[in-house]
Amino acid sequence: MTAEQNQFRLLPSIEELLQSEHGQQLVVRFSRVLTLKALRTGLVRARAAMHDGASCPPASSLLCAAEEQLEREQQPRLRPLINATGVIVNTNLGRAPLSEEALLAVQRVSSSYSNLEYDLELGERGSRYTHVTNLLCELLGAEAALVANNAASAVLLSLSVLALGREVIISRAELVEIGGGFRVPDVMRQSGCHLVEVGTTNRTRISDYQTALSERTALLLSVHQSNFRIIGFTESTSIGALAELAHEHGLLVMHDLGSGCLLDTEHFGLAHEPTPQESIAAGADIVCFSGDKLLGGPQAGIIVGKAQVIARLAKHPLMRAVRIDKMTLAALEATLRHYQRGEAETHIPIWRMIATRPEEIASRASSWVAELQTRGVVASIQQGASTVGGGSLPGETLPTMLVALDAAHVPYSLQELARRLRLRKTPIITRVLRDTLLLDPRTVFEEQDREVVQALVEEVTMGTDNNLTARN
Ligand SMILES: *Cc1c(COP(=O)(O)O)cnc(C)c1O
Repeated sequence: MTAEQNQFRLLPSIEELLQSEHGQQLVVRFSRVLTLKALRTGLVRARAAMHDGASCPPASSLLCAAEEQLEREQQPRLRPLINATGVIVNTNLGRAPLSEEALLAVQRVSSSYSNLEYDLELGERGSRYTHVTNLLCELLGAEAALVANNAASAVLLSLSVLALGREVIISRAELVEIGGGFRVPDVMRQSGCHLVEVGTTNRTRISDYQTALSERTALLLSVHQSNFRIIGFTESTSIGALAELAHEHGLLVMHDLGSGCLLDTEHFGLAHEPTPQESIAAGADIVCFSGDKLLGGPQAGIIVGKAQVIARLAKHPLMRAVRIDKMTLAALEATLRHYQRGEAETHIPIWRMIATRPEEIASRASSWVAELQTRGVVASIQQGASTVGGGSLPGETLPTMLVALDAAHVPYSLQELARRLRLRKTPIITRVLRDTLLLDPRTVFEEQDREVVQALVEEVTMGTDNNLTARN
């Protein structure tokens, strides 16, 4: 028998591995089926390595490799990460993180039975929408409210119900694409109404709408440009003027606001972001906006407006197809309560981030840098800009302090460092700008500060493939 054959005979059997103490622990944690599969993979790999001249691995390392593989595979695919980009509302990163109260509400309502569609007073069937409609009406000054799965479905529903087979007049400046395939002209087509474009890219006057009116017109639609801005020689028509014209002719005005910002953004040093309260006060019959953009709540499509109009939507069969679920409703109610109690700025994460003062960010950035220096990572502080995102306030920024790592002080490329940070168990998303990797503390929760510093130390100073449990 050759030495090589001897080596193969030393390799433990799958049964031995499975029956070992460690093997049995894996069975308890991950099931027998998955443990067997991982051990088999490990043995195949070990045999291949031995054919290439490696020596027989001890049972303990085969078991540890299996454990690592199982942990990696059992890690949720959808998982939390640390947003160090400085973009506060980012659709790719899950938009608005929920407040603690909203999370608790989700947990309480979904781990038990609830009065989702049950009227406790009458002891009979109730409506799921009543849990938030009064709050919405109170906060926004609207007659009635309704909620759908998201703003896209709110718009689709509204147009389908209110303008099917009829004409909808919209300014050429508002035929926008929001991203993720939401293009206003396509949504209008899909909802079965006929789009009538008026005005030009930069200027649309009330007379343009007036000229386009016909007996086929159902409504005048205004869409918030959201993620871009036209500057220079521009003119647009106010909701108030549209409402006046529409109502003179017995028509409706709908405002798709997108971000749905309830607070005054000017108070935070930003440009004015139109609010649903303003649209309602100006006479809009129906206003739609997202729950998870600047409202800072869960994914939802909020619809507020005139009672008669909302009633038509509520009883339409499409409403059932786009209805909101109980977890979302719970989170939405809790989020709206923050506004009701006047504590949005301190309790809703995205507003807390928007409201964070530059001095506060500077102080956190300094302590990151100091801690990094003592642990052997060279970093510096740079002035920079955070953005609100979420299809709102394009071009507007909040002054911030960035922690910067220079390419010269990183043992491999910054792209590689950014990649390693992304592939950690808790991924960290950063920005690379030319020769620096930038991290904005504004969008990092304070309790994540240590994790960020630790990750940078590990990835920069240890250099080798460590902490790669998430990589696959
Ligand atoms: C974001 C946005 C939407 C879509 O909202 P979702 O909640 O993502 O469905 C629709 N209209 C406008 C103007 C938007 O900005």
